[in-house]
Amino acid sequence: MTTFAEFNLEPKVLEAITELGFEEATPIQSQSIPLALQGRDMIGQAQTGTGKTAAFGIPLISKISKNDDKIRALIMAPTRELAIQVAEEIEKLSRFKGLRTLPIYGGQDIVRQIRALKKKPQIIIGTPGRLLDHINRKTIKLEDVNTVVLDEADEMLDMGFMEDIQSILKQVPDERQTMLFSATMPPNIKRLAEQFLKNPEHVSVIPKQVSAPLIDQAYIEVPERQKFEALSRLIDMESPELAIVFGRTKRRVDELAEALQKRGYSADGLHGDLSQNQRDAVMRKFRDGSIDVLVATDVAARGLDVSGVTHVVNFDLPQDPESYVHRIGRTGRAGKEGEAWSFVTPREIDHLHFIERVTRHRIARKPLPTLAEALEGKQRIIAERLLEAVESGELNEYKGLAIQMLEQYDSVQLLSAALKLMTGEKREASIELTPEDPIRAKRRKPDVRSGGRKPSNYSGRSNGGYNSNRTGGSGSGSKGGYGGYNRGSKEGGSYNRDSASRNSGDRRPRPSSSGETRRPARREDSSSE
Ligand code: ADP
Ligand code: MG
Repeated sequence: MTTFAEFNLEPKVLEAITELGFEEATPIQSQSIPLALQGRDMIGQAQTGTGKTAAFGIPLISKISKNDDKIRALIMAPTRELAIQVAEEIEKLSRFKGLRTLPIYGGQDIVRQIRALKKKPQIIIGTPGRLLDHINRKTIKLEDVNTVVLDEADEMLDMGFMEDIQSILKQVPDERQTMLFSATMPPNIKRLAEQFLKNPEHVSVIPKQVSAPLIDQAYIEVPERQKFEALSRLIDMESPELAIVFGRTKRRVDELAEALQKRGYSADGLHGDLSQNQRDAVMRKFRDGSIDVLVATDVAARGLDVSGVTHVVNFDLPQDPESYVHRIGRTGRAGKEGEAWSFVTPREIDHLHFIERVTRHRIARKPLPTLAEALEGKQRIIAERLLEAVESGELNEYKGLAIQMLEQYDSVQLLSAALKLMTGEKREASIELTPEDPIRAKRRKPDVRSGGRKPSNYSGRSNGGYNSNRTGGSGSGSKGGYGGYNRGSKEGGSYNRDSASRNSGDRRPRPSSSGETRRPARREDSSSE
């Protein structure tokens, strides 16, 4: 595990990373960042969702100074949605440094873009077609660019951007750093790299095939905002003896532990920011059962060995299948039964299927527990405890009062009241968690066209099979940034190349030949003539 502190980043960048809640570098980040910081050209290969943006973004941001008013970094991305996503992440990472970033893509009013360019952004994130447009209009000049990133390069070539990319790269000074990221490495990517990268270092993270232990696994599809309610009901329904609930970030863990406490659960949180003493205290309480829900990040739960964990809940889906397997492996140890539940937001369904494929295990879909099921679960456990108390005897001290009460009241009434008290009514604390961005789906919808012209193979359908609104969760309100951009697909007709063959979800891995032979008649994001 690599912490971000190990990269010797400037404090303002480190601060931004902390603010984003990243605890440790992902594998592609820990391999790429040191190389990129040295100024090396590089080729990075890793699956979607592995943190490639920060892998190139952090080094790139480190090179630029706030007072610079030249375009220093150019990032090319295949679609408008991806350009916006990358811009958002770079914006967040450079927030404290005060750099200016601007996404440039087809489908948006070019005049508006020209106006935004006058604010002298140092980092441009664009789709190749529209970038070329600006270059031809001389509204973007590349003479001062010293870092170029080709993000999702395979995708860009698939979309027919090869020539555009070549013309753009020819205009960037030779004295520059070039980084190419791609999930696959078909021959045309290798050719592009040979042409434009200098002695590149190769970095690749291929997911290991991992197998999930034999644990009952289920998922519940639930919108981000209803996750907490879902968790309360699940805990009520299942009455776990000991449960570990996984959250994606430290902030999440803190908020969630506090929210659970407010609602009357005995819960506490564990994450990397706690001191050793604090961690030990939480673990002690969990081991001796004085808390029965432990909320944790992946990092905090690593190496954690507690017996008797009956339930693992992935409140947020993990980034990669390996983490998934590690997480659910915290339950069901030593031959005991365990259950793993995952909350999946609608946009993360593809990511769940990816986890299923890699772990070769189907995860059953279950409905959100109803209020009645939640209540029933709670009552069942209370009844069990009551009967245990009956078995254990030692009730003499209570018998006098019991007999008195039974003389005055009906026994069913009395016992029901006792059950009600023991069940405890859920405290009605209002809970508002900061939403987490969804893990990005592996498929995306191609960019939206700028004008009214339809590509020759326009399918006529608006959005076959693609998740049209996969651009990150900050749309849910609380975060600033790019809220003003239209991320839906209102402008232009959506362009659905080859949708039939792609409807099934993940395209990767695809036969290596396809990248070569499929030369789409049209490219995306063309000029605005
Ligand atoms: P990729 O480009 O490889 O598909 P992204 O860069 O879009 O992946 O990252 C996917 C998500 O993971 C984003 O929400 C990002 O903020 C988050 N992320 C990136 N790096 C980390 C990290 N080190 N720890 C936790 N989350 C991370
Ligand atoms: Mg990416």
